[in-house]
Amino acid sequence: MQSITILGATGSIGVSTLDVVARHPDRYRVFALTAHSKIEALAEQCRLFRPEVAVVGSAEAAQALSVRLRGAGVATQVSYGEAALCEVASAPACTTVMAAIVGAAGLAPSIAAARAGKKVLLANKEALVISGQLFMDAIAGSGATLLPIDSEHNAIFQCLPLGYQRDPVHHGIRKILLTASGGPFLDRDVASLDHVTPEQAIAHPNWRMGRKISVDSATMMNKGLEVIEAHWLFGATPEQIDVVIHPQSVIHSMVSYTDGSVLAQLGTPDMRTPIAHALAYPDRIESGVDSIDLAQVAHLDFRKPDYERFPCLRLAFDALRVGGSAAAVLNAANEIAVDAFLDCRLGFRKIPGLIETIMNRIPIEPVCDLDGVLAKDSAAREMARAMIDA
Ligand code: NAD
Ligand code: MG
Repeated sequence: MQSITILGATGSIGVSTLDVVARHPDRYRVFALTAHSKIEALAEQCRLFRPEVAVVGSAEAAQALSVRLRGAGVATQVSYGEAALCEVASAPACTTVMAAIVGAAGLAPSIAAARAGKKVLLANKEALVISGQLFMDAIAGSGATLLPIDSEHNAIFQCLPLGYQRDPVHHGIRKILLTASGGPFLDRDVASLDHVTPEQAIAHPNWRMGRKISVDSATMMNKGLEVIEAHWLFGATPEQIDVVIHPQSVIHSMVSYTDGSVLAQLGTPDMRTPIAHALAYPDRIESGVDSIDLAQVAHLDFRKPDYERFPCLRLAFDALRVGGSAAAVLNAANEIAVDAFLDCRLGFRKIPGLIETIMNRIPIEPVCDLDGVLAKDSAAREMARAMIDA
């Protein structure tokens, strides 16, 4: 029986995880659920799944949740703040952690789970982008298991040989082919992107996701973050990772081998598939997702990405090539820029320029410890806020 902590339970990934978990009460029980501020949704999840602990973002939210739970006769213990998130991610009573908080806020509890030797199901790509080698060292040092939830990386994992050792050349791999839908603005006139609204940007053609990742998909920063994520997960150099535009989002990614074989993983775009895969690995379980009807899909299209239209993708490749703290700066500047865009304080096409300026201004340094990289993260956020407010 796996005992699961879901970090970010009220989000898109959290809700899909609970949907899969609910189908298999014989395999999984919920140890802890966390949410930032959606108290009502979290209270309802606690009523249904009866976790031992629930964690929220503030003392007021904790108070509000406690009142609701008491009223519903639910005995879940309530706490709040980052230390409490780290505690439920590393508690001895928990075997498995779904890391599904969005952004850098998920870094500390994800690392705590890695250090505690948990089975870590990683959706929170920003944590890996920021901490890279430190995160991978924490996994290796504790003997934790790391399984990717991001659909592309989960697909790649499924196309890799058993016992893959983070060494593409050794395993006869020529390229990792990371597919990208291209988002809602793939074919839109570039000049018209000056005026797109948050609602237009988050209307993804194939996936229903949280707001931040939806904007990242529209700028293709999401794919950029995924390139960096693939580097850390699979030991691939930037030259060994190709991005392929595939508007149908049916092939979730591919691995191209030296003998000419290309292995792909296909499926309906529904995150319950990679979630179920990682939860049950190496078994396979029912996820609630139907098999894909290929006759109905009919066409699988592919094209090269346009780096002029999507400068964020180029910036992410640059950050990976430069190394050190560059990816943490890229990520922090992007989080602030996306937030400002969602608040209508920054135009859509201003996002990449802001990130590039900050990447050029903040000196790159080697990443030696978490404090050092978090200092870079803070500096980039501060600079981004100042530039947006100016
Ligand atoms: P979401 O916005 O729907 O949910 C985010 C969750 O994080 C919520 O439960 C929220 O309460 C919590 N949260 C937000 N800010 C927090 C903070 N400061 N402290 C603590 N908790 C906080 O996001 P999502 O779409 O579920 O994405 C979650 C992560 O998974 C992201 O890193 C995203 O890139 C990744 N991911 C998502 C999808 C998808 O289909 N949604 C696919 C691949 C990867
Ligand atoms: Mg993805």
